[in-house]
Amino acid sequence: MAKSDEHALTPQNEDFSAWYNEVVLRAELADRGPVRGTMIIRPYGYRIWELLQAELDARIKATGHQNAYFPLLIPSGHLQREAEHVEGFAPELAVVTHAGGKELDEPLVIRPTSETVIGEAFARWISSYRDLPLLLNQWANVVRWELRPRLFLRTTEFLWQEGHTAHADETEAMAETMTALGFYAEVAEDVAAIPVARGEKTAGERFAGARNTFTLEAMMRDGRALQAGTSHYLGTNFARAFDITYTSAEGVLEFCHTTSWGMSARMIGGVVMTHGDDKGLILPPRLAPHQVVIVPISRGDGGEQVPEAAAGLAAGLAAAGVRVHVDDRPQLSPGYKYNQWELRGVPIRLDIGPRDLAAGAVTLSSRLGGDKEQVELASVVEGMAERLDTFQHDLFERARSFAAERTRRVDHAAELAEAVATGFCLALHCGRSECEEKIKAETTATPRCIPTDGPPESGPCAFCGEPSAYGTRVLFGRSY
Ligand SMILES: [Zn+2]
Repeated sequence: MAKSDEHALTPQNEDFSAWYNEVVLRAELADRGPVRGTMIIRPYGYRIWELLQAELDARIKATGHQNAYFPLLIPSGHLQREAEHVEGFAPELAVVTHAGGKELDEPLVIRPTSETVIGEAFARWISSYRDLPLLLNQWANVVRWELRPRLFLRTTEFLWQEGHTAHADETEAMAETMTALGFYAEVAEDVAAIPVARGEKTAGERFAGARNTFTLEAMMRDGRALQAGTSHYLGTNFARAFDITYTSAEGVLEFCHTTSWGMSARMIGGVVMTHGDDKGLILPPRLAPHQVVIVPISRGDGGEQVPEAAAGLAAGLAAAGVRVHVDDRPQLSPGYKYNQWELRGVPIRLDIGPRDLAAGAVTLSSRLGGDKEQVELASVVEGMAERLDTFQHDLFERARSFAAERTRRVDHAAELAEAVATGFCLALHCGRSECEEKIKAETTATPRCIPTDGPPESGPCAFCGEPSAYGTRVLFGRSY
């Protein structure tokens, strides 16, 4: 451990972004890579990603999708075929011009996303209505050149999954788009304990080349919005560009309707910023590499029995399916270990010393606070699953009430500016892009989404007074 770990973190309300960087680095989630904007994901951070990935992958497969893998390099000509798409991604592309010791005839683009390479393959694989729907997903890295990098949130190379599907018609493709949004919401809320607003992006915020983009938006503890996953209905845009066609049952040649959807390792940044406090991370048990850490304290009379008792307890917890770790590093003091596991967000800590043993108990601390508790050694294992569930539930509820308290309904421009300084607001909006631009320029807020479950409402735009466009209030916030 670096020496700086012994110093307190910068408090959140003093400088949230300094706090964030310190937590990510000192909890050993990630480190900076040698190329600006790149990131090394360290084992503790990568384990969180693996746990999230397993939860998401299970849901992707349960809804009929299969995993595949497509190449990293894309002929630049492929990307040119869908005009809006290439325009949207052009500023972020990394291009390979030389390979094998010479200049290439056609430059190769490192995938910023895979619609084009997958679209080209779909065109070859689909010929009849019997080939539909085609439901694929890939786990991959992508590269989008990042000028303002932030660990996990914006990095030049990042890890994600991208689903790509082809369907016979709009109804089926739109249902697919919403299925993906549904399991993303489940992973965000039930696994990461991050409450999300679900909705559609306005035209100005849509994915390049999509007909409709749906999103999940979460509020971080500084009141800013994090986009936690997106799902796009692409219409027949990519099908026309890549000639993805099928012959219908009636023998008519039709274009496929396609979708794409993605969730990335930026979710880990979301977990840090939704739950963390001035002591560091707080991890939801379902994503915690160690759900329980046992700290044996072997000093004093009877201390020689502690290691065996700790090992026995750990074995019992592991057998019950709990991810448990015994911190038996002899060179470090218990106080140092407590601080470190707090910093790293472990939900439950069990301290076990000679006095605990003599009383047939352990001392339990929760990362969500409250008093330390003496728990009977014999009942620790059987009660742990329920404790972890309660922790998961409480963490979600805490985040939900935080977001609810900081989401205001506003009807005037001045209120809107005030509300987005600390959180989100719901406002009627005219839907005009010049109005969106003006709001952005004056408040730095953007429309995060048109909530899918928003109650019907219409009236004048809160900002300019023109009639509202979406039939419900739009969620505004400042975003990451
Ligand atoms: Zn307006």
